[in-house]
Amino acid sequence: MTKIIENLKQIQHQIEIAKQRVNAQQTVEIIAVTKEVDVNRTEEAIEAGLIHLGENRPEGLLNKLDSINSAVSWHYIGSLQTRKVKQVIDQIDYLHSLDRLSLAEEIEKRATKRVKCFVQVNVSGEESKHGLTREQALDFVKQLEQFPKIEVVGLMTMAPFTEDETMIRQVFKQLKQLQQEVSQLNIPNVPCTELSMGMSNDYEIAVEEGATFVRIGTALVG
Ligand SMILES: *Cc1c(COP(=O)(O)O)cnc(C)c1O
Repeated sequence: MTKIIENLKQIQHQIEIAKQRVNAQQTVEIIAVTKEVDVNRTEEAIEAGLIHLGENRPEGLLNKLDSINSAVSWHYIGSLQTRKVKQVIDQIDYLHSLDRLSLAEEIEKRATKRVKCFVQVNVSGEESKHGLTREQALDFVKQLEQFPKIEVVGLMTMAPFTEDETMIRQVFKQLKQLQQEVSQLNIPNVPCTELSMGMSNDYEIAVEEGATFVRIGTALVG
């Protein structure tokens, strides 16, 4: 295993270079995806200075929360079953996978505070992926006005598994365009200013296309 601090420096450097390439101005937050690593490795990430951590299963999240008391932000990045909402919703700072009304209803019912959410969009339309189509997403956010516990801070997507950089870039571009459309709806609890996109293999492209949160596992803590 490499030192997380070295990986982090390298990634931060690549992010800066990517921003400079396109003269991008946005702040990019790195979410350390710790779903595949243990508590020790997660603590090492926190010591390296990472303050955003990502988990994709309730068990993994609760296990880390049991042992880690640092004041970090927890991001839930996996699909969330409605019956698991109760267990996790008050433990997390961001949910990246809001994709259906039944989930919004359950969050409204269970959360004791406002939850920052990303609406997950399946831009590429791959059947294996969760998330709404672009058309559905627009419709969906309009219906979220009735859920005051939900704050849609932005949109999230996963790019397709492909070497085709043009195709990946196209997906990120489309998410950004949709984010601007949603933001312009001016729905009070849907500011939708953020873009959660980019993982180990494609975060540089995502940053060039406007990502404000990148979710990095393998290249950082793997
Ligand atoms: C696992 C995961 C990541 C991180 O993937 P890496 O390729 O390891 O960087 C990012 N986002 C989601 C939703 C994930 O499930």
